[in-house]
Amino acid sequence: MPLLSWIDNRTLLGCQILLGGVFALVFLGMKRMYPRLRGAGTFSLGFCASMVACSLFVARGHISDLASVVLANGLAFTAFALFYQGTLRFLQSPRKAHLLWVIIALSTALQAYFTLSHNRLIPRFLVAGLTFFLIRSLIAVELFRQSSGRTFIRTFAIFMGLYAFFGLTRIGIILLNGAPQVFLEQDALQTSTLVFNVIFVCIMGLCFLLMLSGELMAVLENQSFEDVVSGALNRRGIEQKLAIELGCAKRSGVGPSVALVDIDLFKAINDTHGHAAGDKALRQVALAISSNLRNYDFLGRYGGDEFLLILPQASCQDAQRVVERFQQAIRALATAKNGFPLTVSIGITQAVPFEPADSLLSRVDAALYEAKHAGRNCCRVVAPSETFRVTEPTACLPA
Ligand code: GH3
Ligand code: MG
Repeated sequence: MPLLSWIDNRTLLGCQILLGGVFALVFLGMKRMYPRLRGAGTFSLGFCASMVACSLFVARGHISDLASVVLANGLAFTAFALFYQGTLRFLQSPRKAHLLWVIIALSTALQAYFTLSHNRLIPRFLVAGLTFFLIRSLIAVELFRQSSGRTFIRTFAIFMGLYAFFGLTRIGIILLNGAPQVFLEQDALQTSTLVFNVIFVCIMGLCFLLMLSGELMAVLENQSFEDVVSGALNRRGIEQKLAIELGCAKRSGVGPSVALVDIDLFKAINDTHGHAAGDKALRQVALAISSNLRNYDFLGRYGGDEFLLILPQASCQDAQRVVERFQQAIRALATAKNGFPLTVSIGITQAVPFEPADSLLSRVDAALYEAKHAGRNCCRVVAPSETFRVTEPTACLPA
């Protein structure tokens, strides 16, 4: 093909080195900025290994075959094995890659055997091709397994499957037509393989990048709803959950119960024991409350020492039972750990379907006010007000 004869194989390998370098740096940067991002460091290492492997391939003819064939192929296998491991880490898969590393060691040993003792090209290509096919297929299978409901991951899995299949067709062609004699000389099969490799590596790197960026966005979004001191939701987060639950109440006809929890004489804790002790008390209270909740209840820090609790599908009596449990836990904390009294006052009420959030919040605030005035360390319930009546909005009828 005349088009292929215009392209130089070394330039193609140079493109792969460049791509490897760019992706290695990008993933390293992600890892340094967000150390908790799973898989970024492993992908970075994988691209580093692929860069070194391509640099050794480029030098073929100028350095020993041991380096430019055996070591280069070993490093290329390692690069893909690291991509596999990064994928496992990203997807939080329980699978391990131990067996794969053994296979890679064996393949590299076979490469050494066929290169150094007999210099037999076909078995060498066969071993390399099958090893790449195996690793790429493993990545494709793992992505596919974890792709339910995730269209992007599924598309990426199909792409990796195609990448694996592409390597297999190359082996078929080599078995039929014989192996290319000179690796870096112009040869339609070699050049087209390298062109496809550049394209595949580029797309694969971009897919890893999109995968990790999606995860990063989710982490950042979660962080923007988290209160850093107490670990509960922050005000934005709990208000959003309340809006969602009030929306659900319109459909189900049952409003959530809410509780407003305020630490008693918290200012005195700060003043006497220091701000750090105050922060610790906030964390302890949040933990004591959240460990007594169902996994579809929500807790958020609403103000300084005030927590808002949303209990979907629960009556005021249910809420009172929950409150009794965590009140005991908080009292136990005070005596067992802190050495200073730690109690909370609580207001409880239940939302009426179609009730706006501000009306509900002012009612639960009134309940908390009653609890404070009753001497603190207690709970008061204000039932949905008789004065608060909501009529369901009537649907617009066509004229
Ligand atoms: P009451 O029983 O009436 O609630 O008395 P109180 O002392 O708790 O009064 P109040 O609720 O007004 O006090 C809230 C205090 O919370 C005042 C403020 O210094 C403190 N605070 C607000 N945010 C933080 C924080 O992030 N960390 C710490 N340590 N203290 C905070
Ligand atoms: Mg207080």
